[in-house]
Amino acid sequence: VTADHRRRLAAAAGLLVAQDLRGLIVPASPDLAYLVGYEPMPLERATLLVLAPAEAPRLLVPMLERPLAADATGAGELEIVGWRDGEDPYAIVAGWLSRTGRVAVGDRLWASHMLALQAALPGTTWTSARPILGAMRARKDASEIAALRRAALAADAALGDVVGGRFAGRREDELAADLAAGLLAHGHDRVDFTIVASGPNAASPHHEPTARTIEPGDAVVLDFGGVLDGYCSDTTRTLSVGEPGELLAKVHAVVREAQAAARAVVRPGVAIREVDRAARAVIEAAGYGERFFHRTGHGIGLEVHEPPYVEEQDATVLEPGMTFSVEPGIYLEGRLGVRIEDIVTVTGDGVEELNRSPRELLVVE
Ligand code: ZN
Ligand code: ZN
Ligand code: ZN
Repeated sequence: VTADHRRRLAAAAGLLVAQDLRGLIVPASPDLAYLVGYEPMPLERATLLVLAPAEAPRLLVPMLERPLAADATGAGELEIVGWRDGEDPYAIVAGWLSRTGRVAVGDRLWASHMLALQAALPGTTWTSARPILGAMRARKDASEIAALRRAALAADAALGDVVGGRFAGRREDELAADLAAGLLAHGHDRVDFTIVASGPNAASPHHEPTARTIEPGDAVVLDFGGVLDGYCSDTTRTLSVGEPGELLAKVHAVVREAQAAARAVVRPGVAIREVDRAARAVIEAAGYGERFFHRTGHGIGLEVHEPPYVEEQDATVLEPGMTFSVEPGIYLEGRLGVRIEDIVTVTGDGVEELNRSPRELLVVE
């Protein structure tokens, strides 16, 4: 448990009291990594961090993972309770919480654990911990922003390697493998996705790379990311293989303008929906409103998609430290697609762009 973790645990405990909750239960998940620096594989054996008002935090772990948990969190700082096979971990948790009132649970709690907790605490009203942990995690601290910046620059470097090479005559899945190798070569610990969508496939935003051979005249959408030092990268560029046709040049210019307009409104005090509106206004004015059918972006941190979301329905007002993608796109079925995505972070008085790759339509061979 580092100073950051101690501060986060104290903040969560404060919110618990402020919101009149009798407990907060966090399973093996990015929320647990955020709070105590430990994220085991989620399994059928319960690993549960339990916060209760006026009590020190307790981490309940399967006995056989107790040494692992103690190593990861720094023994002695956090009360780690091991439960043995044959014991009932949910009864142990029930003993730590009062019999009535509201208890918040992390979003990633498996239904099997949730149902057992409900049976062990029949008088409890259950609620999501997302309003507490989502809001806390949305405001990144300096160490998190530094990690996100490293991840973004590494993704930029991986892109730079790939655009220096040949596209025409190669397959989508070959280029996806090159991108993945580039992310690892530039310091990523893990690759999560490498979308290479060429020609008509580019109209599918979450396309899986295929054996399709890339041809001159194609638009190619590259959307890729992974994890570096625990924090995620996610960036997108759209390239033209050979000189772009009129349609690709036009659509790319619209998306580029929309993405710039959205980035330009980012600063503290602005509602996040204004970022979405700024991108959408440009695309609608160009007549492609129906062809931009997803939100403008998502928060990013320990998870690649996390609050806040850049959409009309999200009521978040931007604060320093909030970090999210800005990724408008236009998709013309059977023909082409264009998306441009960068990660930005809200500063004290404006915005820092974490990705630095050029945004003009890059022409590759
Ligand atoms: Zn996506
Ligand atoms: Zn992406
Ligand atoms: Zn994204």
